[in-house]
Amino acid sequence: MAKRDYYEVLGVSKGATDSEIKKAYRKLALKYHPDKNPDDKEAEEKFKEAAEAYEVLSNAQKKQQYDQFGHDGMRGGFGGGGGGMNMDDIFSQFGDIFGGAFGGGGFGGGFGGGGQRAGRRTKGSNLRIKVKLTLEEVAEGVQKKIKVFKQVPAEGVQYDTCPTCKGTGQVRRVTNTFLGQMATTSTCPTCHGAGKTVTSKPKDADEFGLKREEKIVTIDIPAGVEEGMQLNVRGEGNAGPFGGISGDLLVVIEEIEHDVLKRNGNNLHYDLYLNFVDAAMGASAEVPLVNGRAKIKVDPGTQSGKIVRLRGKGLPSVDSYGNGDLLVNINVWTPQKLSSEEKELLEKLRGSENFKPNPSNKDKGFFQKVKEMFS
Ligand SMILES: [Zn+2]
Repeated sequence: MAKRDYYEVLGVSKGATDSEIKKAYRKLALKYHPDKNPDDKEAEEKFKEAAEAYEVLSNAQKKQQYDQFGHDGMRGGFGGGGGGMNMDDIFSQFGDIFGGAFGGGGFGGGFGGGGQRAGRRTKGSNLRIKVKLTLEEVAEGVQKKIKVFKQVPAEGVQYDTCPTCKGTGQVRRVTNTFLGQMATTSTCPTCHGAGKTVTSKPKDADEFGLKREEKIVTIDIPAGVEEGMQLNVRGEGNAGPFGGISGDLLVVIEEIEHDVLKRNGNNLHYDLYLNFVDAAMGASAEVPLVNGRAKIKVDPGTQSGKIVRLRGKGLPSVDSYGNGDLLVNINVWTPQKLSSEEKELLEKLRGSENFKPNPSNKDKGFFQKVKEMFS
């Protein structure tokens, strides 16, 4: 689906001021707010679309980039190119824009937002870890057990409705100014917006009844993942305070380089070195696979730079859409040291007619071959 123009999404002109943009976003955010539109997918999409537009147009640098390059200039700008923002991002970044309408200020701090929802369902923050994988693990998929330090609910914690804000998470102050009475709402200083306070807790728990603990999390990593990919393990992040839902564990993939196989997408490359006699007379050669080895036939008269393709011997695609190939790049090895006996043998061949280089049009250069292989 084509992305809509951000100005169009917010219904403002290109010359709109910051405050016009903010006002337009606030209007849309309130209209499509999930609390007002429960279980309405379309409203949720509109809510997210507006937040994404606001995220860009409210930031001078991003706005300039967008004005200049359009959506193309924004690629990768949203946490790795997943496109759009998730609800937690929206609440944590723009929570303040909802003002008094949905409980204001909210629970930014250590809890990754989400606290503005009706019923004050406070959510724990996300955790991010890196996982290093070998090529073998990438090829097969792997289950990893990983130590994660995270906030968990402490035992024996008792809590009650916050006495300062009576559970609303915010306080309202009325002040007299020369313009008359003005009411301002701000996050409750006692409970930091949670609406609850801990009445009794063990020593090692914090003010939200949470403590840090080392936990072993089991993660199933699918085959075919790539460097920089992020897996989202729901509910394995920090616990939410007062029985709130847990954040997510974001697992970022790192690849450990293989000794001899180089990865290019789902294809693998291997440099095979043949001795000159095998290349001239033909031979059978062994090449390594991710798991195991394969034999290939080298035809007589094989030139350096020939690429042999082993279909399906590359890596699986992460969306289970077939396997890549193993591309064996043949290099003919020229001896660097010769005994006098070898020199004598070769000297006899030096003048031989068949040893004169005679490349034909069929012997294309490396880049031409790769190009044809993928066209
Ligand atoms: Zn409070």
